[in-house]
Amino acid sequence: MTTYLLTGARPLGGDPTDMLIADGVVAAMGADARRGGADARTGGADVVVDAAGLVLLPGLVDLHTHLREPGREDAETVESGTRAAALGGFTAVHAMANTTPTQDTAGVVEQVWRLGRDAGWCDVHPVGAVTVGLAGERLAELSAMARSAAAVRVFSDDGKCVHDPVVMRRALEYVKAFDGVVAQHAQEPRLTEGAQMHEGVISAELGLTGWPAVAEEAIVARDVLLAEHVGSRLHVLHLSTAGSVEIVRWAKARGIDVTAEVTPHHLMLTDDLVRGYDPRFKVNPPLRTAADVEAVREGLADGTIDTVGTDHAPHAREDKDCEWGAAAFGMTGLETALSVVQATMVDTGRLTWADVARVMSTAPARIGRVAGHGRPVAVGEPANLTLVDPAARRVVVPEEQATASVNSPFAGRELPGRVVATFLRGRATVLDGAPVERGVHV
Ligand SMILES: [Zn+2]
Repeated sequence: MTTYLLTGARPLGGDPTDMLIADGVVAAMGADARRGGADARTGGADVVVDAAGLVLLPGLVDLHTHLREPGREDAETVESGTRAAALGGFTAVHAMANTTPTQDTAGVVEQVWRLGRDAGWCDVHPVGAVTVGLAGERLAELSAMARSAAAVRVFSDDGKCVHDPVVMRRALEYVKAFDGVVAQHAQEPRLTEGAQMHEGVISAELGLTGWPAVAEEAIVARDVLLAEHVGSRLHVLHLSTAGSVEIVRWAKARGIDVTAEVTPHHLMLTDDLVRGYDPRFKVNPPLRTAADVEAVREGLADGTIDTVGTDHAPHAREDKDCEWGAAAFGMTGLETALSVVQATMVDTGRLTWADVARVMSTAPARIGRVAGHGRPVAVGEPANLTLVDPAARRVVVPEEQATASVNSPFAGRELPGRVVATFLRGRATVLDGAPVERGVHV
């Protein structure tokens, strides 16, 4: 196995140090990193990576990725989506269950898990559907999925809300047996029928049917109380409103076992972008107001919101290149997530790089019960690592990304930061900002 010497890297943005990566682990750090060989420059490593000025993070973990396979391979495959993930600095992603067929049986989750393992870009943890076919009626084979080779711990009907309170209660009770978590897409369906964008001043002006904040907040409030009642774990996906942040803050103060996520796009973009009717800005939950953006940034900074999840949602061109009303909901995000977090949270002084490691690696790994990821950057730990150049700037060009879809809301924007290298158990999946095909090194 190729060995790597990283020179002058800054773990979690701290003081520069050298690191030797060998046998899948962080073999040595500091002066010890060059002691392995006679050559003082390389320390005996096969490949030297000049990491001066670069920030070294634990490999990023995404709790919320749509890989679209099986069923919509025209929008994304496990291979293309996980290559995009590696380029975005991720070493593990959770693949959402709204595939065709649905990931609601042990057979389908094992298929996705195997596709991820064979692609080799990052670890793929399939999310299991809560209900059969995401129909919201009968619980899926939760324990069979948990006991399968895919070892599912995160269950979600994402794309749809588990709106029936009895079904939600049963799911929360059921997953306790195997330390699982229910990840809710909080959207009261009756309050959002026909919704096209956030309900507010701009939806009124444009004459589009609104998706009111209360439709999210009502479900978040109900679910934290259900989680408390049955003593189970709840994860709230893509929290987008100031009111939701308040409810989660209250629930945590009360001791309820709830965690929450925000997407990069909800940290940066607002509903006034809808004025141009560009379907790239159509997403669910919708882009909200500047006050909501401020509230989710504050929530992420003070720990009310635990994680950033990409909600990477690739769509084929025919589903997005159409009028606003007919376009699909969703945006790509794996290859821009870290840059958006840097722009909105790090460069504004609200999070340190150590905090970024917490919200994009440690916390999602803990919530998803992912072993070997989200670990400290330390000797003896699995070498799941991301090397970032925070001084770089680049303009987002969706056609140049690895994802098979081009529906990035950041197209044409200049963003800070660039992932220079990603290591999965000591093997480089990305070097010099480019993907490393299996077994082929620079
Ligand atoms: Zn969702």
